[in-house]
Amino acid sequence: MAKNLNEELPMDDATQNVADSFRTQIRGWYGEYKRTLPWRGLRSFYPVWVSEIMCQQTQVATVIPYFERWMETLPDVESLASATEEEVLKLWEGLGYYRRARLLQKGALFIKDNGEPETFVEMLKVPGIGPYTAGAIASIVFDEKVPAVDGNVLRVISRFRAIFEPVDTKVGRSVIEQFVEKTLISETCPGSLNQSIMELGALICRPKVPRCEVCPLKGECLAFLEHVPTDLPIKSKKVKAKKWSPFAVIYRKGDKIALKREEDKNLLSGLWGVPIVEEKPEDVDELVVVRHQFTHRDTYYQVCVSDETAEMDYFSSEELKALPISTAMKKVISAYFSNGDIGDS
Ligand code: SF4
Repeated sequence: MAKNLNEELPMDDATQNVADSFRTQIRGWYGEYKRTLPWRGLRSFYPVWVSEIMCQQTQVATVIPYFERWMETLPDVESLASATEEEVLKLWEGLGYYRRARLLQKGALFIKDNGEPETFVEMLKVPGIGPYTAGAIASIVFDEKVPAVDGNVLRVISRFRAIFEPVDTKVGRSVIEQFVEKTLISETCPGSLNQSIMELGALICRPKVPRCEVCPLKGECLAFLEHVPTDLPIKSKKVKAKKWSPFAVIYRKGDKIALKREEDKNLLSGLWGVPIVEEKPEDVDELVVVRHQFTHRDTYYQVCVSDETAEMDYFSSEELKALPISTAMKKVISAYFSNGDIGDS
């Protein structure tokens, strides 16, 4: 059985041989099986930056049309810096985690004043760019020998070396980062090595059902050899989404409904939606329950309808198509428009 490893993996000759073999196998596999993606092969800062931010917490297949539309509308840093927040959020509508879109624009404004970063260290100064994104861009675009350790890489390496240290702790993460940085990454094409590990994690070394039988690393993968791939990676804390059942209030007037723009500095700031309240308002008819799963909140919106007049702007179903609206709010609004006759007084 694999043992707990602390602080550092040994960097002896045997480890170096394993690393050489890892590089050879994974590069061969990547050359043959990597997916064709619109940003793959691009070697300039802006499109790689946009694609990396979009792909955080979102499936690649979902990102592709968003990336293409974004690059057509905002093809460079200057156009992003001068776009309105509403334009940016509309382009992002449906991708979720809207903070990413706002930070991209903040980053563009920073770059407009300070120039485009060309090194890992310079990239870390740009708002919204952390060590993973800086590592990915610096290695892919500028051939800098730095690791880019995302969730896929944590999974592949923790399995390959049977690292039982929790990957969501400083020690566990550091062990993996050091292995990638000191042993795996070489001067030759560091960007494609980083991408090949991520791609293997996405396509082969999958979280629940790893495809070890077709994996190029299985000959030396300790988790495979010890029959424990799905026991890894270890996570110390598992966040359980809390259930929340607020009321989503639709104020209607003829064929229009009232919407307000979120101004608070919360996750949905800048997006439009109907009022959400904890207490059921008076004189409303309950219509339907709509569920939306946020990362930390399993939300059951109790959609209700009011004929009171609200101090908000009213929009028809056609007019609200031009507004940036979150996926959760779209579900609520669609539920109203498809069930609006229920509960009519
Ligand atoms: S052999 Fe299995 S566990 Fe090991 S890296 Fe490949 S897919 Fe992952």
